[in-house]
Amino acid sequence: MSRKLRMGMVGGGPGAFIGGVHRKAAAIDGKIELVAGAFDIDPAKSMAMGRELCLDSSRVYSDFREMIAKETALPAERRIDFVAVTTPNNWHFPIAKAFLEAGFNVMCEKPMTMTLAEAEELEQVVKRSGKVFGLMHNYPAYPMVKLARDMVKSGRLGEIRKVVVQYAQGWLARAIEKQGQMQASWRTDPKQSGAGGCVGDIGTHAENLAEYVTGLRITDICAETTSFIPGRPLDDDVNVLLKFNNGAKGILHASQISIGEENGLRIWVYGSDAAIEWYQEQPNHLTFKPLDKPVEIWSRGNGYVGEISPAAARGTRVPAGHPEGFLEAFANNYSNFADTILSKAAGKEPDALMNDFPQVADGVRGMAFIEAVVKSAKSDRKWTKFE
Ligand code: NAD
Repeated sequence: MSRKLRMGMVGGGPGAFIGGVHRKAAAIDGKIELVAGAFDIDPAKSMAMGRELCLDSSRVYSDFREMIAKETALPAERRIDFVAVTTPNNWHFPIAKAFLEAGFNVMCEKPMTMTLAEAEELEQVVKRSGKVFGLMHNYPAYPMVKLARDMVKSGRLGEIRKVVVQYAQGWLARAIEKQGQMQASWRTDPKQSGAGGCVGDIGTHAENLAEYVTGLRITDICAETTSFIPGRPLDDDVNVLLKFNNGAKGILHASQISIGEENGLRIWVYGSDAAIEWYQEQPNHLTFKPLDKPVEIWSRGNGYVGEISPAAARGTRVPAGHPEGFLEAFANNYSNFADTILSKAAGKEPDALMNDFPQVADGVRGMAFIEAVVKSAKSDRKWTKFE
């Protein structure tokens, strides 16, 4: 197809966080253009956003149902190819399901749904639809995370023994939801966020990262959750012990009350021969620690990275020393998602490099994780199966 894919968006209205990130990231590689949207729960704000983005006003809608009806009525050569769902969590399932059933591809924010049952239902809807479904876990999309995954896969670390993953933030250390702070308000409300607070919002990123990098599956968890702010109905801090399917052990810690931490996602993987460490706030470097040898700092954009990890090279746009980060990671998922849609449209199955973006199975896993953590915490830290 010698054209850009046409993108629609639900969510991402005035003052929203992640919708704008999706819009910028989707545009980075020139494969996608935004043409339509229902940007806000308030129709007037959706229209205002459409004007700000200079969109054709006939393609800016009051809500997602109107968007589906009117987009479906357009000729195929004008209709959106996919929708990005960037609303709070409670809307992901109904919106993603409705677009898939109407024949559109979907890129959806995490956590995928409100419950595991919904996630499993959505997995069936994706299968039946034959459409491409991406889940925006952006952290596996960093080149140095792909390198870490490929180092583990190629056996450089030996047998994996221990995984420590932490996601620490401090922005919910005060009850800012009581002052109407937009992002805090819905995240601390179980009706909009789901059964997990911090565990759903960022704990799922940590869980997804640990499984992506190691290629292992977490089988058992023992969790403690806390809400440090009086009256806050959802957890704002979570500590989890992990067991993996190869016998490795792990610790996952996620927190939104850790003052001084900004977006402190960090992973350490310890094998029998070497260890690796990656830190999201310095994403262009991966630390490799071989047994009895000096510690090495591997740097994104160098040829030696691409020799081990073609996926890391594919997700790199500028040379070493010219930092890439958050937006480019989102762009990497969008690029692979777009190539997968184009490949399927041409009647070909996507190759493994293209297919390397989080999908519906990752969303099911994330929801199972939230439910297992909540269950274990409620039963006074009982070991709980997570399979
Ligand atoms: P936000 O509060 O900043 O923005 C939400 C937007 O969605 C608002 O414009 C709101 O009006 C709109 N909205 C709500 N219901 C809607 C509906 N039914 N139809 C149309 N628009 C609707 O929230 P945010 O921080 O951008 O988070 C949005 C989602 O993105 C959440 O699911 C969150 O978990 C996820 N997120 C992911 C990452 C990541 O790194 N992948 C980072 C931040 C947020």
